[in-house]
Amino acid sequence: MNECLFCKIVKKEQPAKIVYEDDKFVAFKDIKPKAPIHFLIVPKKHIASIESEKSEEVAKELISVAKKIAKEKGIAGYKLVFNVGREGGQFVDHLHLHFLAGKPVQLP
Ligand code: AMP
Ligand code: ZN
Repeated sequence: MNECLFCKIVKKEQPAKIVYEDDKFVAFKDIKPKAPIHFLIVPKKHIASIESEKSEEVAKELISVAKKIAKEKGIAGYKLVFNVGREGGQFVDHLHLHFLAGKPVQLP
C-alpha cells in the first residue's frame, strides 16, 4: 500500500498540481493530459477500483466533487470517466475519476 502513487500524492509525498482538496478527496492535474483540462479526483482513503467493495458510495461522492469543481471553475461541460481493470485502461490501482474538458478527446 505504501507504494501507491495516488496515496503518496494524497500525503504530499509525491508532487502534484492540486486543484481541489477537502477532508475526504483530492483533485489534481493529470500528468499526461488527454484534454485541455484533465484532472483526477481521488478519495484520500485507498480504494483500489470501482470493482472494490462499497465503491459505489465513494463514486457518488467523487461525482459530487466533480460537479463542485466544475461549478467553482465555471466549466460548463465535461466528461467523467472511470477506467476499470487493465483491459479497461486502469493502470493506477487507486480509485480515480477522470475529469476531462476543453474539446473532444479520444478515449482509449
Ligand atoms: P488510469 O489509466 O485510469 O489508471 O489513469 C491514471 C492516470 O494517472 C493517467 O491518465 C496518468 O497520466 C496519470 N498519472 C500517472 N502518474 C501521475 C502523476 N504522478 N501525477 C498525475 N497524474 C499521473
Ligand atoms: Zn492508494
